[in-house]
Amino acid sequence: MEEAGYKRFKIEPKPAPHVYQIPNKFDVSARKLRLASMLVHEALEYRLNKEVVLSRPCIYGVFGGRFGGFKPLKHKCVGCMRCVQEYPHIMTVKQSDSYKRLGDSFWTPENVYTVWNEASTGKIPVKGMGYKGAFAGEGFDGMWTDMSEIVRPTRDGVYGREYISTSVDIGRKPTSIDFARIDDQPKSLEIPVPIIFDELPTGT
Ligand code: SF4
Repeated sequence: MEEAGYKRFKIEPKPAPHVYQIPNKFDVSARKLRLASMLVHEALEYRLNKEVVLSRPCIYGVFGGRFGGFKPLKHKCVGCMRCVQEYPHIMTVKQSDSYKRLGDSFWTPENVYTVWNEASTGKIPVKGMGYKGAFAGEGFDGMWTDMSEIVRPTRDGVYGREYISTSVDIGRKPTSIDFARIDDQPKSLEIPVPIIFDELPTGT
């Protein structure tokens, strides 16, 4: 029987691959001579330990093709800039020219690309260059993350993951701690919404 009362909607998306080739957003290139010399140097330093020498700095598999960094798989790049941070003297990652040509005077390349990818993945477009979820787990000592701070009351996410807190503290808060009077409660009061009604006029 159908459960009575409010029920939140949930639509499960399924990937719908692009029907034609869309441009790569990022142009990834390595200075080939420097890359080759780094590989030779590492091969000598790590005594031809293949696993170390051929380890790739990109978790998204951009250098996982047959020719590694010499022929990067640009369509896999998400622009996290990890490779540039680790090898600034070798790697360059910038927006591709074909990406920059997308759209017109009204639609920016980012608008077009976002709509394409939203249509293809069914995911909510998220902006930003921060943590995308892959720099953790096996092979990583820790998670590579980019912290942000929400500077307003916590929001209700699209699927209702968070509650909105509207409570406020009324009253003076202590500016320092007096350990001799630690049991004294600060004279403040928490109210659930930031509204206080005055005593209702009686009309007399
Ligand atoms: S920017 Fe990030 S995703 Fe792109 S190639 Fe470098 S490490 Fe890989």
